[in-house]
Amino acid sequence: MKKPAIIIVLFIFSFLTLSAQKPYIISVKGKIPSSQSGVTLAHEHLLVDFIGAENYSHSRWKEDEAFNKILPFLREAKEAGVQTLFDCTPNYLGRDAKLLLRLSKAGNVNIITNTGLYGGSDNKYLPAYAFTESAEQLSQRWIIEFEKGIDGTSVRPGFMKISVNPGPLSDISKKLITAAAITHKATGLTIASHTGPAIPALEQIEILKQQGVRADAFIWVHAQNEEQDQKFVDIARSGAWVSLDGVNEENIQWYADVLSLLKKENLLHHVLISHDAGWFDPGKPDGGTFRPFTTIFKKLIPALKQAGFTQREIDQLLITNPAAAYSVSLRII
Ligand SMILES: [Zn+2]
Repeated sequence: MKKPAIIIVLFIFSFLTLSAQKPYIISVKGKIPSSQSGVTLAHEHLLVDFIGAENYSHSRWKEDEAFNKILPFLREAKEAGVQTLFDCTPNYLGRDAKLLLRLSKAGNVNIITNTGLYGGSDNKYLPAYAFTESAEQLSQRWIIEFEKGIDGTSVRPGFMKISVNPGPLSDISKKLITAAAITHKATGLTIASHTGPAIPALEQIEILKQQGVRADAFIWVHAQNEEQDQKFVDIARSGAWVSLDGVNEENIQWYADVLSLLKKENLLHHVLISHDAGWFDPGKPDGGTFRPFTTIFKKLIPALKQAGFTQREIDQLLITNPAAAYSVSLRII
């Protein structure tokens, strides 16, 4: 090999090695450097089917009908500045990798989907195998999706979405968070857990610790359902991500107050905000009423500015934090 050729090869090699070390997220279209994820909605839904695992089937919705209903809302979010959206609909609740890929391309928004199982709502959305298999066996299914793609597509999950019951953890909820810990150690995927109150959040963080997984691999989803604001402070301080993901027209002042509290405690760098909005519901005529993904931009940001938030702090909530929370990396004790 001639000298210039060797230099070029070395250059390409070092470039690839260096770029491999940079933080990244995994969208339905493939890997993206986390630094390019831009304004991000950390918890939304494009399609949700509440029929339950027993009668669940993708044949319950027509892809074109769902696509045509969802796309304008995705485009509206894009116009508001959204570049990346985490679709938190789990398997057996309407996760449709093929549809998400099509929407991501047409709407020019990064969409990230997930692996995992949803154990909330009295286990209505858990398939039969979830009750009989061990945590190791469940994690094996999730790791296979991470390695090979979802439902025969090339789409890989960019995070885990699980859900537990709202009180002290049941045995099956403990199994799901344990399976998530095992999967994290094999993949580096972040664990977003639909949880609600602080008690089961703290129990999950403890199980992760026992499994050797750090708290910052865990997103406490629907933290706004906890009644004591002090718990947001305590859990953010533990290192976990506090996801206040239910922004709507009616609760703007509550969000401004709680975010001001977390800012005062120097904990804004552990907080995520989103709407938990959307979605096409196959169980309703014409997919039901779709809640848009724009209230944060139209209502919350002006309220935060009113409360003294700087642009940098707003960018922290909508750009820096989701990129850090969802970057694929091992977070092991
Ligand atoms: Zn949700």
